[in-house]
Amino acid sequence: MTSILIIYTGGTIGMVESEDQKTLVPFNLDYILSHVPELKKLDVRLDSFSFDTPIDSSDIQPQHWTQIGEIITERYSAYDGFVILHGSDTLAYTASALSFMLDGLHKPVILTGSQLPIGMIRTDARENLITAVEIAAKRLDGKPVVTEVAVFFEDMLYRGNRIKKQSTEAFEAFFSPNYPILASAGVSISFDHTELFRSEAKELRLMNGFDENVAVLTLFPGMSPKLVKSVLESVHLRGLILLTFGAGNGPSAPWFVDLIRESVAKGLVIVNVTQCTMGEVEQGKYKTSMGLLKAGVVSGGDMTFEAAITKLMFLLSQSEDGDWVKKQMGTNLRGEITV
Ligand code: ASP
Repeated sequence: MTSILIIYTGGTIGMVESEDQKTLVPFNLDYILSHVPELKKLDVRLDSFSFDTPIDSSDIQPQHWTQIGEIITERYSAYDGFVILHGSDTLAYTASALSFMLDGLHKPVILTGSQLPIGMIRTDARENLITAVEIAAKRLDGKPVVTEVAVFFEDMLYRGNRIKKQSTEAFEAFFSPNYPILASAGVSISFDHTELFRSEAKELRLMNGFDENVAVLTLFPGMSPKLVKSVLESVHLRGLILLTFGAGNGPSAPWFVDLIRESVAKGLVIVNVTQCTMGEVEQGKYKTSMGLLKAGVVSGGDMTFEAAITKLMFLLSQSEDGDWVKKQMGTNLRGEITV
């Protein structure tokens, strides 16, 4: 019988009203499972593991990513797949981080959550959980269908490092701006086998570590040199995501281009990610991105911000060599960027 481990981290899916009934707080895993008796009908052996204290995902930190990575790695041979219950707010970050950490993954790791708590009448939690388990258990010719970190939410299976949260309201909370969906769940679950990620590495290897000496600078018309300078000159800063206009453009004012050039020359890894939700960065397409290109800013291509920042933190923890980090940022490691 296929065996799946459910890992509960917290999030709306398991939330209940606090004693003063004013806020929602995460509750335990038994509460969730008691609301989905249908899980017993699936031909799957289910085990579960819960964070000691389930959290709202806005409290997620890199040490939680490490904890999830270790739970999966330590139990990798005992299970055919893993389902992670997680709050939707930072789910795109956790999915991206896990995709980078789990090199050589050959089993499904499916994250899901919900917009309404599982105890509510119109909840989306039951469908999301049941289908996530079904997908994690899916096999074809004796092999798992999904062998990557993916996210199931409201009828769609997405690549984990390609999604963005798009709505606080709609059950379709996520979308994948630059990569096709991996599967859709209607009467049956239909996979797009051509889009599924296959790792070339033979064995699973947990690559741990996230360097927190990073920052994000969102460009806007009228930003002051003082602000840009103070961010670029932050102590211990090793990596920066520059959120640019359109296809990777920024002001062509000499003060701006000079500050960027000097920072790159001093060893700061700057990655150009567009503020647009769809499309990609093409440095050099416009004159307003030529200065960034010449300064040695790395193009983030069509990566989401969530994938780019977690990838940068991950790579900076792997090496002191800025040139290596820059090269890897533009390399497709886990299907997160189109090259
Ligand atoms: N604040 C919640 C969380 O991210 C929202 C959710 O789960 O949808 O944990």
